[in-house]
Amino acid sequence: MKILVAVKRVIDYNVKPRVKSDGTGVELANVKMSMNPFDEIALEQAVREKEAGRASEVVAVSVGPQAAQETLRTALAVGADRAILVTTDDEIEPLSVAKVLKAVVDSEKPDMVFLGKQAIDDDSNQTGQMLAALLGWGQATFASKLELKDGEAIVTREVDGGLQTIAVKLPAVLTVDLRLNEPRYASLPNIMKARKKPIEQKTLSEFNISSQPRLKILKVEEPQARKAGVKVKNVAELVEKLKNDAGVL
Ligand code: AMP
Repeated sequence: MKILVAVKRVIDYNVKPRVKSDGTGVELANVKMSMNPFDEIALEQAVREKEAGRASEVVAVSVGPQAAQETLRTALAVGADRAILVTTDDEIEPLSVAKVLKAVVDSEKPDMVFLGKQAIDDDSNQTGQMLAALLGWGQATFASKLELKDGEAIVTREVDGGLQTIAVKLPAVLTVDLRLNEPRYASLPNIMKARKKPIEQKTLSEFNISSQPRLKILKVEEPQARKAGVKVKNVAELVEKLKNDAGVL
C-alpha cells in the first residue's frame, strides 16, 4: 500500500503573525516558516503505517515556492521515502492544490492520500474534501484514530460534541485532526540521510492548472487588543462586575 501525504509550508505556529500595513494579508518577509502542524500529524501517521508493515511507500507532496523544498526535506527526515515538489510562486487556493494533488494521484496511484484537516495560514479546511470529490473517492475527515484492515480504513472522527466511527473503502482520502498522534522530531542521522533522498520537481504549468485566484481578500485585521484586567476584593464584587460591567451574568 502506498500513501501520499500533502504537506504545506506555512508560517510557523509559534510566530505571531503581523498584518501588512495595507491590510491585504499577513507579513511573510523574514518570517520563520515550517510544515503545517496538521500535516506533521498526517506524515507521522503515514510513517507509522509503514513501520507497522501496512504501507510500503510514503511519498510527500508539496505545492509552493522553491523554499518548500525545506519542508519536504523535513518530511524525508521524518520518514517519507521520496518527495514531489510542484513549484509556483503564486498564492494558490485549495481548489488548485486539490487539482494538482489529483494529477499526482493519477500518476502515482496511491491507495490513500493523507492531508491535514486545515492549513493554519488560510484555515480553509477544503483541500482534502475537494480532492476526494475530484477523485471520486471516499473520504474520512477530522480523523483522531485510524485502523487499516482488509482494504478498509476504520476511522474515528472528531465531530461536534463527540466521536463518530466510520469505515471507508480504499482508495480513500484521510484528513487528520490534532489528537491522532504526537509527531516525532527528526533525528540528526535521519536529517543527514534525508539529504540523499530524491525530491522530484515539477511546475504548476506542466499540469496545465491555473493558479488564477477565485477569491479576493478584501481585508485582514489584527484581533482587538486585550483590555487590561482589574483586581477585585471579593466574590461579591466579582459577581457585581460580571453582572453590571461585563454583562455576562
Ligand atoms: P486547507 O484546505 O488549505 O485548509 O488545507 C488542508 C490540507 O491540504 C493541508 O493540511 C495540507 O495537507 C493540504 N494542502 C493545502 N495546501 C497545500 C499545498 N500548497 N501543498 C501541499 N499540501 C497542501
